[in-house]
Amino acid sequence: MRVEEISIFEAYKDKERVLKLSEKIKKLSEKIGRTVNIMEFCGGHTHAIMKYGIDQLLKGVVRFIHGPGCPVCVMPMQRIDLAIELAKRKDVIMCSYGDLLRVPGSKRKSLLNVRAEGADVRMVYSCLDTLKIAKENPDKKVIFFAIGFETTTPQTAVLIKKAKEEGIKNLFVVSNHVITPAAIQHILNAPEIREIGKVEIDAFIGPGHVSVIIGTKPYHYFAEEFQKPVVIAGFEPLNVLKAVYLILKQIYKGRAEVKNNYTRFVTYKGNLKAQNLVAELFELRKEFEWRGLGTIPYSALKIRKEYEEFDAEKVFEVELPEPKEHPACICGKVIRGVARPTDCKLFGTVCTPSNPLGSCMVSSEGACAAYYKYRRALVQ
Ligand code: SF4
Repeated sequence: MRVEEISIFEAYKDKERVLKLSEKIKKLSEKIGRTVNIMEFCGGHTHAIMKYGIDQLLKGVVRFIHGPGCPVCVMPMQRIDLAIELAKRKDVIMCSYGDLLRVPGSKRKSLLNVRAEGADVRMVYSCLDTLKIAKENPDKKVIFFAIGFETTTPQTAVLIKKAKEEGIKNLFVVSNHVITPAAIQHILNAPEIREIGKVEIDAFIGPGHVSVIIGTKPYHYFAEEFQKPVVIAGFEPLNVLKAVYLILKQIYKGRAEVKNNYTRFVTYKGNLKAQNLVAELFELRKEFEWRGLGTIPYSALKIRKEYEEFDAEKVFEVELPEPKEHPACICGKVIRGVARPTDCKLFGTVCTPSNPLGSCMVSSEGACAAYYKYRRALVQ
C-alpha cells in the first residue's frame, strides 16, 4: 500500500509529462494572446509553485497571485496578543500547532518568547493531544488555540465533543477557524479587483484539502456570479499544471466553470459527516478580522452556546492593547495579492524564517517563506 502511494505521487512529478503539459499550456497561451492571472488561494499551492519552479516554467504565460490560504498568515495580530495574554497566566497551559507559536504579536514577542520567560506553552501535532494534557494536569487550565480552514475544523469539533462526553472541566478552546468561500468572495468584491483593477484575477486554483471537506459545490457561485473559472487541484507539479491547462482552456473558450481536478479525494458535496459535525459544534461569527483583508462578515466560526463551557473567549476575560503591526511589514498587501514578498524592504535581510517579522515569513505555507526558500537567489 505504502509503495503504491509513493509511486502515485512520484508519477505526478514525472519530468517528461511536466514538460509535455507545459508545452500544451504555452501553445494555448499563444492563442489567448495575453498573460493569464491566476490566484492560487491555498498556501500549499504557493509552496508547490515555488518549489517546482512552475512560475518560472510558465513565465509570461501565467502570473500567479498568491492568495490568503495560509491560516497562520491571515491570523490578525490581536488574536496572537490574546494567545500571549492567556499563556502568561500562571494556571494556564497554552497549546497550539508549531508555526503559530512563532508568530510575533504587538510587542514583537511570540508564544515561544513568552515560553522562554516561563509560560507553559506547548506545541501539539494533533489537537486531541490537549485532551491528554488536560487529564494529566487537573490543577491547570489547558487552552487549545485552534487555527485553520475547513480542513482542521472537524478535528477541533471532535476535541470539544470528546471533552464534553468525558466530563473534562479544564479544557478550553479559542476558535480561530476561518471559512474559505467567504474570503474568496471578499477578495472578488475588493475595490482593488472590482474597481481599481490593481489586481487582475482571471481565475482561481481551488484549494485541494479544504475541498475534500466542503466539496466543489460552494465554488459554483464564484464561477457564475463573478465569471471566474475555478479548478480544484492537488499539490504535485502535474496537478497544478493540469489546473492551469483547464483554466486556460476555459478562458480561451470564454467560459467560467468549476472543474474538479482532484477527483481522487474531492466530490461535489464533500464530506457530509465532517460538515454535520462542524455544524453541531460551531456557528458562524457575524464578523472576523483577517490579517491583510480586514473584517469579513460571516467568515469564521465560534463555538455554539451548547458547548460554551469550553469556549475560552467566554470563560476568560482579557484586556488587549491596540495591535501594532511592524511599520515596514507588508504582509497585508502580500496576502491581498497587491504586492510580492520581494517588494518588501525587509525581505531576506531583516526578516528571515529564523527571525520572522511578519506572519507570511513564519509559516512554511506563507508566500514570504516560500520566496525565501526557493527564489531568494533571484533577488540577491
Ligand atoms: S518579508 Fe517579512 S516583513 Fe516583509 S512582508 Fe514578508 S513577513 Fe512581512
